[in-house]
Amino acid sequence: MRLAENLAQLGTETAFEVLARAAKLQAAGRDIINLGIGQPDFKTPEHVVEAAIKAMRDGHHGYTPARGILPLREAVAADTLARRGATVDPEHIMIMPGGKPTMFFAILMFGEPGAEIIYPNPGFPIYESVIRYVGATPVPMRLQEDKGFAFSADEVLAQITPKTRLIIMNTPANPTGGVTPKAELDKLAKGLEAWPEVAVMSDEIYDRMLYDGREHGSMLAYPALRDRLIVLNGWSKTYAMTGWRLGYSIWPEALVGLAEKLAVNCHSCVNAPTQFAGLAALNGPQDAVDAMVAAFDARRRVIVDGLNALPGVRCAEPGGAFYAFPNIEGTGMTSKTMQTRLLEEAGVAVVAGPSFGALGEGFVRFSYAASMAQIEDALGRIRKLLEQ
Ligand code: PLP
Repeated sequence: MRLAENLAQLGTETAFEVLARAAKLQAAGRDIINLGIGQPDFKTPEHVVEAAIKAMRDGHHGYTPARGILPLREAVAADTLARRGATVDPEHIMIMPGGKPTMFFAILMFGEPGAEIIYPNPGFPIYESVIRYVGATPVPMRLQEDKGFAFSADEVLAQITPKTRLIIMNTPANPTGGVTPKAELDKLAKGLEAWPEVAVMSDEIYDRMLYDGREHGSMLAYPALRDRLIVLNGWSKTYAMTGWRLGYSIWPEALVGLAEKLAVNCHSCVNAPTQFAGLAALNGPQDAVDAMVAAFDARRRVIVDGLNALPGVRCAEPGGAFYAFPNIEGTGMTSKTMQTRLLEEAGVAVVAGPSFGALGEGFVRFSYAASMAQIEDALGRIRKLLEQ
């Protein structure tokens, strides 16, 4: 067989490899605490599950429009207006099979050899993977511990060149939990007025997971950007629906038709019952979301304090999402050694920082989507290993 050369450029998401290794150890009888994978440990709310079952019983077994069923796109538009104050035409909304396909489509649209794409580093690994896959040049948006892993608008603006096609941003962020303050977003939006040909993809999938009264800064707030802004969001994290594969994106007029064309070429549409589940999630009671975020907040305090009390470890306070990203340089281990030893010797699955980009060396990601008892147990095991 002769494979396409660019396949060699494709990266991956190490969290899935850690998950597979953890599952193997578990199957062999080891007691593993999984702080590796980024998914809520809660169940999808019951009324959402019921809506999918009802949709199947009601005969929603066929294709839907590639953009998604209209009531769901209308519900997304209503939700965006209610929570973000932004008016969005349902015709600009695409219902997608998860959050990932939106980044894939956006990078496919703008990436090619010679094009530069600015992306968060450390950041969600699929951004850099797909940028390299399409042959574009990845330009890292540096996220630093001493800035709480917020990005600096001045730094980003200084990285733009005539070759820049797309800027990918993510707040609240994976893997750091960093939240970029609104003042930086304002500055970025203002600065981008000088670069009208540069598109923006704002990954806002953690927009409801914010702590200590922080508010989400959506890029939808900037009218001057709206004709070149792609917003990625979805149900995976907010409603504990990672396995349902349901996301959405908001596209500008110039791109929504292309997004639809890519969808038709790729997946046709999201499976119909899942779309009805998403509708129930948006239109139904939100107390499960609030309860989940409150639980994450309590765990966040325990894990951050616990990590900071470990020898050689310091952890900046994450303002959002459900990740802690401590600096482990003081332990003398590399991130990868730490990942391996924690899993193999302590039975704690975490993900090494460089899995999220080269600038993640010296860090390890903990997903605190686990019970308080598991978090406390994991901290005890890590202390034992570090004190050996
Ligand atoms: N964007 C970010 C920042 C994420 O962390 C994730 C998942 O971990 C996704 C997108 C993808 O979400 P989904 O599972 O809905 O594809």
